[in-house]
Amino acid sequence: MKVRGRCHCGRIRYDAIVDPERATICHCSDCQMLSGSAYRISVPAASETFSLRGGPPTIYVKTADSGNRRAHAFCPDCGAPIYSSAVCDPQTYSLRVGCLEERAMLPPRRQIWCQSAVPWSANLEAVEQLERG
Ligand SMILES: [Zn+2]
Ligand SMILES: [Zn+2]
Repeated sequence: MKVRGRCHCGRIRYDAIVDPERATICHCSDCQMLSGSAYRISVPAASETFSLRGGPPTIYVKTADSGNRRAHAFCPDCGAPIYSSAVCDPQTYSLRVGCLEERAMLPPRRQIWCQSAVPWSANLEAVEQLERG
């Protein structure tokens, strides 16, 4: 699936080809903190399909407890998260689904790091729902 993404302020725009079957929710605590939300949803794009215009994004290199390092790209103006990738010579970019125009067509197919999921995130059916804020 061809996807088009942009940060909130529009400084960074990009497009890519993704496999919708690989849209994933991550419940790890790093994703909670870096997204400011209960979990993050990402979908991978092969590097040869990913083209970035505008920008460049700011890169934050996160070091995991395991020592694994990962580059997290975000807009320096609006702070919107764009992708994460390997620090050197990335083969794939993990695109943040919320910044993609096609986000409604990318329902997550699996959930990872469920051991750190906030318990209420599994079911929001009973939470009051308004059409607009
Ligand atoms: Zn921006
Ligand atoms: Zn995560």
